Amino acid sequence: MIKTVKIKDLLIGGGNRITVQSMTNTKTADIDATCKQIRGLIDAGCDIIRLAVSNDEEVNACREYLRRFDAPLVADIQFDYKLAIKCSDIGFAKVRINPGNIGGEDKVHELVAACKSNRTPIRIGVNGGSLEKGAVGRGAEALAESALRHVALLEKFGFDDIVISAKSSDVRVMIQANRILSDRCGYPLHLGVTESGDAEYGTIKSAIGIGALLADGIGDTIRVSLTGDPVSEVIAAKKILRAVGLDKNYCEIISCPTCSRCGYDLPEIVRQVREETKDIDFPLKIAIMGCVVNGPGEAKDADLGVAGGGDKAVLFTKGKVYKTIPMCDILPELRRMIAEHTKR
Ligand code: SF4
Repeated sequence: MIKTVKIKDLLIGGGNRITVQSMTNTKTADIDATCKQIRGLIDAGCDIIRLAVSNDEEVNACREYLRRFDAPLVADIQFDYKLAIKCSDIGFAKVRINPGNIGGEDKVHELVAACKSNRTPIRIGVNGGSLEKGAVGRGAEALAESALRHVALLEKFGFDDIVISAKSSDVRVMIQANRILSDRCGYPLHLGVTESGDAEYGTIKSAIGIGALLADGIGDTIRVSLTGDPVSEVIAAKKILRAVGLDKNYCEIISCPTCSRCGYDLPEIVRQVREETKDIDFPLKIAIMGCVVNGPGEAKDADLGVAGGGDKAVLFTKGKVYKTIPMCDILPELRRMIAEHTKR
């Protein structure tokens, strides 16, 4: 059983829903720009927001963010354990440290004491590119071993309010490291492929790495790291959760790739239906298929759907055909059926 860790009012691990995280990339001391970005992330559905904190000016700016926003905010600290202590003291919901960069045991001990007294969980964030001195190798075992060594250090000081992340830009290394961690400890795992690139390629890398683990039941919270606007990270993360079946409250559109048997402008119908159903927040599956050869059968678990056939189209529900319509009525008939489901 995975331990439950409380991040402000959110529960991570222990079978709770998988939460989505992102990180601001404005200057942390720039209050206007950072508030705008935090608001944008919250509006996009981001559960936990991390900010890099590198000096006292940024700590002071963070007091303002903690005052203005209810969402759990996490301080990301590199090197300076005293900053981590200050962030715990001012009320951050969690601090993320890379113990390999923090220094000796004494410093970690002091930080743990502050976090214990403030009830601030710590995420041990280990990255392939910044393993501590003395770590052997850079592969999955080295990543997992490094994380576990730091877990043992925190436990030695009587602290177990821990979340772990083992990230790499190498998808296979990240997957394997998290499988090892999942086998060897019961702390919540924060999943991510680090430095995965821009939205186009990084989303694919993240979907493979994060998705493979989630599909195996590994992982409690995720971040898709993408170059660019962090809102795109949240959008990608939500799509990954949907694709692995961990978020069902949306309208899923199943559509065929089309071939020469398709007799209507299927891509345009898909585009319009997707646009018109994007705000649906309950499970609804719509199939839009090119022809009746495979259409209704391949989409038999869809709530409703359409398949072309000669100069006509058929509508079906749960794989059963119930009406034949002219091609030109496909979109209005789909709209009508969607509206009926939405009313229920
Ligand atoms: S459903 Fe029909 S049109 Fe679409 S790819 Fe399959 S055979 Fe082709």
